[in-house]
Amino acid sequence: MTDNFDLEHIWHPYTSMTQPLPTFKVKRAYGATIELDDGKTLIDGMSSWWCAIHGYNHPELNQAVTDQLQNMSHIMFGGLTHDPAIELGKILLKITPPSLDKIFYADSGSVAVEVALKMAVQFWTAQGQPQKTNFITTRSGYHGDTWNAMSVCDPVTGMHQIFGTSLPNRLFVAAPQTKFHEDWNPQDIAELEQVIQQNHENLAALIIEPIVQGAGGMRFYHPEYLRQAKALCEKYHLLLIFDEIATGFGRTGKLFAWEHAQVEPDIMCIGKGLTGGYMTLSATLTTKHVAETISRGEAGVFMHGPTFMANPLACAVALRSTQLLIEQDWQANIKRIEQQLSQYLMPLSQLDYVADVRVLGAIGVVELTFNVDMKTLQQQFVDRGIWIRPFGKLVYVMPPYVITQQELSDLLEQLVDVVKTLQGAH
Ligand code: PMP
Repeated sequence: MTDNFDLEHIWHPYTSMTQPLPTFKVKRAYGATIELDDGKTLIDGMSSWWCAIHGYNHPELNQAVTDQLQNMSHIMFGGLTHDPAIELGKILLKITPPSLDKIFYADSGSVAVEVALKMAVQFWTAQGQPQKTNFITTRSGYHGDTWNAMSVCDPVTGMHQIFGTSLPNRLFVAAPQTKFHEDWNPQDIAELEQVIQQNHENLAALIIEPIVQGAGGMRFYHPEYLRQAKALCEKYHLLLIFDEIATGFGRTGKLFAWEHAQVEPDIMCIGKGLTGGYMTLSATLTTKHVAETISRGEAGVFMHGPTFMANPLACAVALRSTQLLIEQDWQANIKRIEQQLSQYLMPLSQLDYVADVRVLGAIGVVELTFNVDMKTLQQQFVDRGIWIRPFGKLVYVMPPYVITQQELSDLLEQLVDVVKTLQGAH
């Protein structure tokens, strides 16, 4: 039941304060289980928006936080440093593209994107090309809710209409059309090539989510798109920014999605699963060349430095979470989840009101032909003991990797049942 104080005073993501959607009060969470205030338990299908990869209340992650707490929970990063930031940095450089060499820690995914965009602009200014300040991206993208991150989100499903001319004007091309498993259609890159060719003099970078476009539509596209995009960036002197905030840490079946294409970006943003979902932390990584060029520029420094930069508690838990992931046979585990998602979800594609079903790694998506009534559907899912939060036409799951085979079967059986009852609801 919705708490009255919460209902009256606390804003939730993307909700109205006059007609708030119901919220469910959580008492605790452990493994892949969310326990509500009234004792009801839900199997988690969302990993708290991609981040709780090892599930909740993980003993080793709890220990990492507790241990760090004994030393310090926070210390400013200006003029000071600490082992959690250093050790985390070492492991990140081992698992991200080999050409990335410098790390900027930031507070959230959106801020990591802001940092990436600022890096690109400072890079070109330092190169004596101060006119290269704009960005190009594809439609159906999502990069966060802060000002400039918002400006590169999909202009239709994003927030462009509401914020109007207060947003900088970016260049958009159609979203990649060739699906992940289809044969590559060379026409797919034509518009990007044309728009870059016409505008490259003012473009600092192309920003894109590699392979999986997440909150902008849960679309999986062909790796060749990234290879061709990289070639265009090199030809026309644009930096390439990969936003791996949602795709990172094994979610797509590779540790990071760039590996599907073997294309290395100049700048890469990571977040979400970085701390195993324990707290907010992100990082923007870049090459020696970009970092050194910025540092040789007129400003001489990179102009960003948040208060909670490299927060030691967050870095300590991120280090343990990343170790935990790569110490295990995570590929086999993601394959197990992928197979189970396919087995249960694919048959739904036969329903006439299901437009598409797609599965990649630990992401399963059922796209309907109509927008769901989130309030009703959410309640149905909760009544059946599962936690899934649909949006638009999409009912999707991305469970914590610790979900057991039995839990995942239970979750998917209920999900499938609910989707089948939608017949006639539209
Ligand atoms: N980029 C991508 C690809 C994302 O999915 C998100 C969050 N959904 C963000 C950026 C923004 O991250 P945050 O919500 O931590 O600011």
